[in-house]
Amino acid sequence: VRVLVVEDEILLADTVARGLRRQGMAVDVAYDGTVGLEKAAATSYDVCVLDRDLPGVHGDEVCTTLTRTDGRVRVLMLTAASGVDDRVAGLNLGADDYLPKPFAFSELVARIRALERRVAQARPAVLVARDVWLDPARRLARRGSNELSLTTKEFAVLELLMAADGAVVSAEELLERAWDEHADPFTNTVRVTIANLRRKLGEPPVIKTVVGAGYRI
Ligand code: CA
Repeated sequence: VRVLVVEDEILLADTVARGLRRQGMAVDVAYDGTVGLEKAAATSYDVCVLDRDLPGVHGDEVCTTLTRTDGRVRVLMLTAASGVDDRVAGLNLGADDYLPKPFAFSELVARIRALERRVAQARPAVLVARDVWLDPARRLARRGSNELSLTTKEFAVLELLMAADGAVVSAEELLERAWDEHADPFTNTVRVTIANLRRKLGEPPVIKTVVGAGYRI
């Protein structure tokens, strides 16, 4: 899942980003609304965690612009105000969910996961392909009765391939969705991750290389 965090409190923004990355999410950070909109225009995010009270371009304006220009992204608005009126105002601007500060990190993660499921619409909470089983929310993956010990990137790649349900996913798409903007598109990082994933999944092989197109489960 690809997440954009727009938050002007640098410490909070960085702490949230670090925590979400540990959950296997690919996270970019913007410390103001202008940069946030620039990043959102350049990259297709699944979820935007958006502080409402931003300097420069206000969070409300970022929210309306985002939801008007990008039909895919789901907006989770953070705000210091916890009154019903503020919540309603946020939702009226097109935010998909709303979390008053201060919040528990676990609740933020659960809400992002819920929005991610909405992005994927009918995608089930647990993904199954033959004898491979993956639970994104609990970060568990199994093949048969063997629990797989995967790195966050391996887990994210496997999740994307399983969510595609047999369709081919290109290396570029894997790179865009599982890595953040610091990933170097010219390295063979996707290939290496796929190779490790294959080794951990064992025999018979479940990830097929489609030459010139990408990978599929
Ligand atoms: Ca703020």
